[in-house]
Formats: sequence, C-alpha cells, structure tokens
Amino acid sequence: MSDSVLMSLSPLQRLREVEQRVRAAEKSVGREPGSVQILPVSKARPAADIARLADAGVDAFGESYLQEAVDKIAALQSRHLQWHFIGPVQSNKTQHIAQYFQWVHSVSREKIARRLSEQRPVDLPRLNVCLQLNVSGEASKSGVSVDRLRALAEQVSGLPRLRLRGLMAIPARSGDFAQQRAIFCRVREASEALTAEGFVLDTLSMGMSDDLEAAIAEGATLVRVGTGIFGPRHRPRPDDVHSGQ
Ligand SMILES: *Cc1c(COP(=O)(O)O)cnc(C)c1O
Repeated sequence: MSDSVLMSLSPLQRLREVEQRVRAAEKSVGREPGSVQILPVSKARPAADIARLADAGVDAFGESYLQEAVDKIAALQSRHLQWHFIGPVQSNKTQHIAQYFQWVHSVSREKIARRLSEQRPVDLPRLNVCLQLNVSGEASKSGVSVDRLRALAEQVSGLPRLRLRGLMAIPARSGDFAQQRAIFCRVREASEALTAEGFVLDTLSMGMSDDLEAAIAEGATLVRVGTGIFGPRHRPRPDDVHSGQ
C-alpha cells in the first residue's frame, strides 16, 4: 500500500496492515505465525486513540514519555491494559515506572535496576525487565555495552522485585535491510550468549515501523510500532531525550 493511502487509514486499519507485514515476515523466515507480538507505541497520542484500539481488543501499549504516560494510564485504568515503558530511565523516574508499568524495556544501569526493584509495590507482581543493549551505530548513546551486559544481567536476576525477560535495542535508522539485519544479529547473539550462561530469557524487543522485517528475521519476539499504526508524531515532548525520534 502507498504511504498516502496508509495515511488516510485509521489506527486500527493501520494495525491490521502492520499485522500483515509481521505475518509475512514470520512466514518468509519460517517462524511460527503469531510468534511475534506487536506492541503499539502510543507516545504523543491521546488516550482516546488508545481507547479505540483497546475496544478492538489490543491490551498492551508502549510509552516513553513518563508524565504523559502516567496521565493516560490513570485515564484508562478501568480497562486493565498492560503498559510497557520503553523510554530512557533516569533515577527520578523509577518510582512512577515501578508503580504504573508492568514492563520496562530500557534498563541499562545497575543503579536504575536496584531502584526499580526497591520501589516496586509489594502488592504487584514482579516488574518485567529487558536490558537495553547499546549496539554500535545506535542513534542514542543509551544502553549497556556488550562487555557489561553479563554483569548487569546477573545483578538484575538477583533483584527480588524484578523479572529479567530479555534484551531490547534501538539501532540507528538505516534504509538498508542487510545493515539492519547485521545489527539485530548482534542483539540475538548477545541474547544467545546469556542463554548459554544459564539465563532464561524469552523476549527480544527489537524492530520498529521501518525495520521490523529485519528484526523478525533475526528473532525479534516483540516489535514496537508507533508511526506505522498511529501515523506521524507531530510535537516533540520536553522529556524526549531520544535522538532520532
Ligand atoms: C518511538 C519509539 C518506537 C516507535 O517508533 P516508530 O518508528 O514510530 O515505529 C519504538 N521504540 C522506542 C524505544 C521508541 O521510543
């Protein structure tokens, strides 16, 4: 479908298009249909847009601007949605993340992990965590280096209120499929190295609107899709410290 046709569709219609892309990508590399989860990224979108997708049965959303996310989580509380924090985590954000989210994909420092564990309310299940890996060529400088990954994984596994689920990565944008795939391959290899060390991981959070096919070819279990579902984002938010977003 052409970009101009896609733009005239509703988020739900675009989600169906993304589902087709994901199913085709799974099939082309011989993966089980439905093995890749699509996480709609609703940052910079109003709660009403989320509610419409929730009406159609979508039950998990990704957010990266904390204050905005907390407001929407509160507004949509009665729907019992699952919320994934995917943005940069500074120390002053850990309390709200631990309180409002079920997942955080972007843990890259021991101090942040410790605070999230300490601040996770005791009446909630453990907080699901992915470690953000800094693959070379990454647009933002955030993420743990491959060298320090094992030590961080060990620390996070030992924290009582966290549950280590896998790895996440945000490669620099590239229009070249082979180049995209080469970076995602490094994430998969890092994950396999951890598995070989005895870590039990079930999540590879990688791939966005423009590179989800390459990510799926390298084993992504979850793709984070914003513009592909909701259309282009207009206003950058004050706490958007991601470059290239
Ligand atoms: C915004 C964002 C996405 C979605 O990106 P699109 O290109 O709009 O699909 C995915 N992951 C992270 C971490 C993001 O910040």
